[in-house]
Amino acid sequence: MIPAPFEYEVAGSVEEAVELLGAREDAKLLAGGHSLLPLMKLRFARPGTLVDIGRLEELRYVRDDGERLAIGALSRHRDLQTDPLVQEHCPILSYTAGLIGDAQVRHRGTIGGSVAHGDPASDLPTIVLALDAELVVRGPGGERTVPAPEFFRSVFETALEPQDVLTEIRVSKLGETGWSYLKFNRRAQDWATVGVAALVSDGDARIALTSMGPAPMRARAAEEAYRSGGAEAAAAVADEDTTPPTDTAATSEYRRHLARVLAVKALEEAAAR
Ligand code: FAD
Repeated sequence: MIPAPFEYEVAGSVEEAVELLGAREDAKLLAGGHSLLPLMKLRFARPGTLVDIGRLEELRYVRDDGERLAIGALSRHRDLQTDPLVQEHCPILSYTAGLIGDAQVRHRGTIGGSVAHGDPASDLPTIVLALDAELVVRGPGGERTVPAPEFFRSVFETALEPQDVLTEIRVSKLGETGWSYLKFNRRAQDWATVGVAALVSDGDARIALTSMGPAPMRARAAEEAYRSGGAEAAAAVADEDTTPPTDTAATSEYRRHLARVLAVKALEEAAAR
């Protein structure tokens, strides 16, 4: 449970973080540390240098940008849970942030860390995908914006390059759109065995799944079925095109069953909101 030796640098700005990532071998960013440090203690991760961005207050904000909310990557789960703008305009995000881990995890973990980590069992990437968010990334070549469907690639694999810093997450305001996120886990304060996010408006639905494949994914067949047949029809195909793993929490087949059961409940809950 002791990490391999590493160097430690504190970045005073995003630019400095990008420079340090380029200058040091095997450097990795450290934000809240609640995903990276456990991996280092197990020696699954052995970065040569940790570049600490955890104190960059310039990346900790929620701003009203008209039709969207701009959320700084270092906003903590607890910030999202309690921020009045997020609660008003994107309640699925504040609700879901409140389901993550325990109070300690929510006070340290950041939305940027959760999204950048690319764990298919994490909750916020699914919500970011359901919301069709844009991810703002700064690297040696300047700033670029990546749409959420292009960001998540595979297990612990995203569109981020080794020298990139995720700086902002932009999400649309939900307005009258109904929403739900249902997460099934065997223990309190745990990752999702399966999670289903649903956004419903005018007979249309956006559905995204947690832990049903190597990355968070949209349930496209279910979205199509919802338009013609409603929640039951959608739920019947909620696991189509998914590749859920078998692990200590559940078998693949059980995950498929959970996705179908949670999908109907989530769609009904979203429609009622
Ligand atoms: P870190 O651990 O600091 O970093 C994670 C990875 O992202 C690293 O590779 C790092 O280099 C990279 N990174 C961090 N920030 C950036 C950035 N701005 N730009 C580019 N790369 C970056 N998560 C859930 O979703 N649901 C849960 O129920 C849940 N339960 C948990 C329970 C426990 C006990 C623990 C320890 C964690 C749990 N988590 C859960 C994970 C938690 O939400 C993490 O905090 C989060 O996934 C990572 O955020 P972080 O800020 O801690 O990132």
